[in-house]
Amino acid sequence: MKMMNKTNDQTIYHVAVPSPLRRLFDYLSPKQLQNVSCNEILQPGIRVFVPFGKRELVGIIVGNSKKSSIAISRLKPIKSIIDTKPLIPKHLFDLYIWAARYYHNPIGDSLFQSIPSLLRKGKGLPSLETQCWMLTKKGVELSLSDLSRSPRKKEFISWLKEKKAITKEEVKQKKISSSILKKLAEKKLIFLESLPENSYNFKNKNPLAEKPQNLYPEQQKALKSINISSFNAYLLFGETGSGKTEVYLQAIEKIVCSGKQALVLIPEISLTPQTLRRFENRFNTPIVALHSRLTDKERAFAWNMARMGKASIVIGTRSAIFTPLKSPGLIIIDEEHDSSYKQQEGYRYSARDLGVIRAQKESIPIILGSATPSMESLNNCIENRYTKLTLSCRPEKSFRPNWLPINIRKSQLINGFSQELIESIKKVLFEGNQVLIFLNRRGFSPTLSCYDCGWISNCPNCEARLTVHRKPSRLLCHHCEYTIQVPSTCPSCNSSQLEFIGQGTERIEDTLNVLFPKTPILRVDRDTTRNKTAMEDLLSVVHSGDSCILIGTQMLAKGHHFPDVTLVAILDADGGLFSPDFRAPERMGQLITQVAGRSGRGEKQGSVILQSNYCDHPFISSLIFQDYQNFIDEISKERELSSLPPFSHMALVRAESTSNEDAISFLGYCRKQAENILPPNKIITYLGPLPALMEKRNGRFRYIFSIYCKDRKQIQKLLEKLCQRVDASPLAKRIRWSIDVDPQDIS
Ligand code: ADP
Ligand code: ZN
Ligand code: ZN
Repeated sequence: MKMMNKTNDQTIYHVAVPSPLRRLFDYLSPKQLQNVSCNEILQPGIRVFVPFGKRELVGIIVGNSKKSSIAISRLKPIKSIIDTKPLIPKHLFDLYIWAARYYHNPIGDSLFQSIPSLLRKGKGLPSLETQCWMLTKKGVELSLSDLSRSPRKKEFISWLKEKKAITKEEVKQKKISSSILKKLAEKKLIFLESLPENSYNFKNKNPLAEKPQNLYPEQQKALKSINISSFNAYLLFGETGSGKTEVYLQAIEKIVCSGKQALVLIPEISLTPQTLRRFENRFNTPIVALHSRLTDKERAFAWNMARMGKASIVIGTRSAIFTPLKSPGLIIIDEEHDSSYKQQEGYRYSARDLGVIRAQKESIPIILGSATPSMESLNNCIENRYTKLTLSCRPEKSFRPNWLPINIRKSQLINGFSQELIESIKKVLFEGNQVLIFLNRRGFSPTLSCYDCGWISNCPNCEARLTVHRKPSRLLCHHCEYTIQVPSTCPSCNSSQLEFIGQGTERIEDTLNVLFPKTPILRVDRDTTRNKTAMEDLLSVVHSGDSCILIGTQMLAKGHHFPDVTLVAILDADGGLFSPDFRAPERMGQLITQVAGRSGRGEKQGSVILQSNYCDHPFISSLIFQDYQNFIDEISKERELSSLPPFSHMALVRAESTSNEDAISFLGYCRKQAENILPPNKIITYLGPLPALMEKRNGRFRYIFSIYCKDRKQIQKLLEKLCQRVDASPLAKRIRWSIDVDPQDIS
């Protein structure tokens, strides 16, 4: 596109609209305001309605100038202005824009994903005020016996003395007549006050609802090291149960007492309700939770509570990193290694990484906590970008679990269980304790196959097997959801000799039901926890403390405390050893360490059994015989040798098409352009186009072009130019493509 750069007297507003185009759109000021200067009103961040083709869209002002690439005569005026003031503080709005640029995602799409959906639709924020009845000074001093002739008035006043504030809603529910309220108000005993909802009952209370724990020396040291008055990134590294959450709580206490707000990110709220509960139990001050089960209105309300400083603690998942805070004081990213912090579709931002940038911009501390920190964060400690704070023991009277490797290469397995494992389970159940079996594969069996002709249940749309499910019975593709009935005979040769190959959690459940018919078997995976309360119901059985066997996928690895589990068994530890994904061993180690951390968290000695074909592999043995830090040291040798992240910066260009040739030639073009912009040299390497780990998914072929660079600035410059060229090429229009900066998932 040729810039005309025509200068003129009129101000031109550059507006972001929800569009896949990597650009802003230019508009003139609204018709009614064309003769006045609107710059005061139309500041960056203000939402407006703009004509867009035949439609009218919500747009967000990003800036203004006297120039446009379009002839002024062709520009349309802004239709109307939505906000009187920007809803997002300037520094945060700048961060939204910075993030869009850094991840090379279209600016309109990025900005719209950074705000609640009610705002995206052009609506206003829900009011935070609730009208409450409260006692006047005279009312407080009034003795109830003075009202003994009017029982209804007495009842209301005594209720109010106890509750301090009663909302109009509550009055309605209790069917208190308005004439009574009117009379009491006339006597100046009560009055109506607008209070922020959720907080009216917190007024004038101690911010703490319960006494904090006495920190043990390492926790004290960690807490003391956290300087709450300036930016610093801290990595709080301590195994599950070592007391990280207690350190968060006490750091937050300092923040709340100084009148500031804390933003806490956790990977998944609805699956770990007890984490949220711990915060709520500790503090009297208003806490809002931003999670996927909120309605649009509830979400906007919570967001506004944070923005207006009415909520002192904001807890949320990934997208909560964009929540404005009136007085920011601290950011916490719990389980910082968790891959859910990186959005894997569309706007591929990392909430963890943006958290660090945000904390820097707001001059506040950020704590990244984990029992299994990412190699990136550990490396940032080595390079002195983060301060490492270590908690090395468990505060409760609990012991480190014993690790027992079981080499399954030569042993006969019964549906995935070695004889030794079965014996160990028996022993634990006999002692009245609980067992946790970990297998990260849901369904009954990952493959159905024909014994006679070798037919295999492949998905027609993906390069993947259809998983056999029992309840309800079907073959299901976990990548595209393609579903068919389980055939009774081989679709290829009609033989009835169909076999299930491999184990899924449903099959493990069946096997255990046969082996231990008297023991309750609880399965926790995506299929058994779809229902809103299912997870809590399952967990309440576990927490009853009765002997049982828990079977779970990675859903169980996160944040749960099972005091009576004394044996954790990892059925198949080898998943990540030989994967072409360079992060697979790290993920495997994290998952195994996290699951193992569920064992022996109470007062009982726990053990961890690990079934593997490769017990003497250095990755496995460093996990078993040393600890997570040693494991990371071991696997980072390979990464460093191959100059993979964190020892270089990485970006991917992905392409998907129903024709593999289109995908390959598009990425070939990208590579040529990249080489032309920045020829490969000592600091930059290009790889591909190569097929993605799953070459075909949902009927599309998937290819990847990878860029590795030692210098973040260079890769950024390259990507910016590359995007411009690729956007302008006709090839790009025929294909689904995307850029992934700092990719986490290369499948
Ligand atoms: P993490 O977040 O590292 O998993 P938690 O903070 O949840 O660890 O602590 C594990 C358990 O130990 C919790 O039940 C917590 O209440 C308790 N705990 C933590 N710190 C202390 C302490 N200093 N004294 C006594 N109990 C503690
Ligand atoms: Zn067959
Ligand atoms: Zn499929």
